[in-house]
Amino acid sequence: MIDRCPKCKAWIYSYDGKHECPPLWLVQCPEYDDETWEEVYAVAAEYAAEKYAEDYDADSHDMMCGETIVVVVYLEEEYIAWRMDNTGITDPVKTFTCSGEAVPTYTAEEIVESDKAGDTDD
Ligand SMILES: [Zn+2]
Repeated sequence: MIDRCPKCKAWIYSYDGKHECPPLWLVQCPEYDDETWEEVYAVAAEYAAEKYAEDYDADSHDMMCGETIVVVVYLEEEYIAWRMDNTGITDPVKTFTCSGEAVPTYTAEEIVESDKAGDTDD
């Protein structure tokens, strides 16, 4: 049986045993919007940045044509700790340049004789 985790939206397979959500990251592209943080569940900051870039590029596909974006990523729990403690803790931000590429896909579908013959039937 397959289901989706209501929190992180990961596919959960019953044979995988107990599901644990990956860490929550806060991701933003400051050049595009420096007020909104996207919440992304991912196993690492790099994957959170990639997921953000994928969503960002979903409509325009500008990144397929070589555009890159710079995104900043915080581990949510580190971000909260950092914001609450002003005693000199260094900013735990990670910064990534994100790019994309289109991968060509080829398909083959066999033409069978009955298709060529059209609708002629006996
Ligand atoms: Zn989950």
